[in-house]
Amino acid sequence: MSIKVRVPTPLQKLTGNQSEIDGDGKNIRELIENLDKKYPGIKERIFDETGNVRRFINLFVNDTDIRFLQGDKTELKDGDEVSIIPAIAGGSDLREDQIERYSRQIILPEVGGIGQKKLLNARVLIVGCGGLGSPCAYYLAAAGIGKIGLVDSDRVELNNLQRQIIHFMKDIGKHKAESAKEKLNLINPDVEVITYPIRLTSLNIMEIIKEYDVVVDGSDNFPTRYLVNDACVLSGKPLFHAGILKFDGQATTIIPREGPCYRCIFPEPPPPGTVPSCQEAGILGVVAGILGLIQSTEVLKFFLGKGELLKGKLLVFNALEMNFRKLNIQRNNNCAICGDKPTIKELIDYEQFCRI
Ligand SMILES: [Zn+2]
Repeated sequence: MSIKVRVPTPLQKLTGNQSEIDGDGKNIRELIENLDKKYPGIKERIFDETGNVRRFINLFVNDTDIRFLQGDKTELKDGDEVSIIPAIAGGSDLREDQIERYSRQIILPEVGGIGQKKLLNARVLIVGCGGLGSPCAYYLAAAGIGKIGLVDSDRVELNNLQRQIIHFMKDIGKHKAESAKEKLNLINPDVEVITYPIRLTSLNIMEIIKEYDVVVDGSDNFPTRYLVNDACVLSGKPLFHAGILKFDGQATTIIPREGPCYRCIFPEPPPPGTVPSCQEAGILGVVAGILGLIQSTEVLKFFLGKGELLKGKLLVFNALEMNFRKLNIQRNNNCAICGDKPTIKELIDYEQFCRI
């Protein structure tokens, strides 16, 4: 008995680059088990640990999906043609190692091969490689975000290591952006990491963010927060915001024109000296971790187009009470930058605006 088996590109490594091989077996399972004797490894690519066909693999007998026949017990006869199709339609061309690396999220129906390609094509700028940026960057790199920009003008200090988990002892004295890049490259070579060991200003921010689809704000000062907000509104880039202090955190997702921006929520920064910084008041490291991961979760949902974003919502977290509250926030028609008659039409001097 001879059955023609069409092999997809990702599996051709196992078949000596052959796109068509001959096999035999009285049903699909027997066919694959027989093929595995000649081409070891092919069975585990098709069946999972429990013996079911992997959810990102489709099998067809003479152009009919076996799920509409008798599954892996679908009987075969001489001259049948079996096609192995990874469930990554739309010209997706994930490499075999990518399918393996991301398999735990590719099997999620909300991700799949198509979602994974979206992540691999996504470009995210992370402002700040500190308490928020560290966990956010780690998880985005691990999930396969294709391009990550890292902005931070600071160098690693010993007191950073309590929460800025992307930096190690050996990095003390290094630029945070370079230290972070090193770790992201070690996690996932799929990710292109660009570093900007500079302070963002009205003069350089537009040039930098135009290379990215979205921006994560993990900064630690008001001039940068307002600068990043205004630059994102002016250029229409989604912005994932979080702020932390002591045991508290806040997060929101800003989709310019669709929902409120940071200025809609806080039209003005507090006067200098009225709100202490983490340096002055302290911060529990895990609070930064939780908020940084909320930002990365929002980024992934945004690119996958799944779930409900924190658009028009301010998520407020307190670690001591261990509660999350989701408050409704609205776009302010009188907002200076995203309102109906904006008074800010280009970037301003943010140090002066924040009275620093
Ligand atoms: Zn606004």
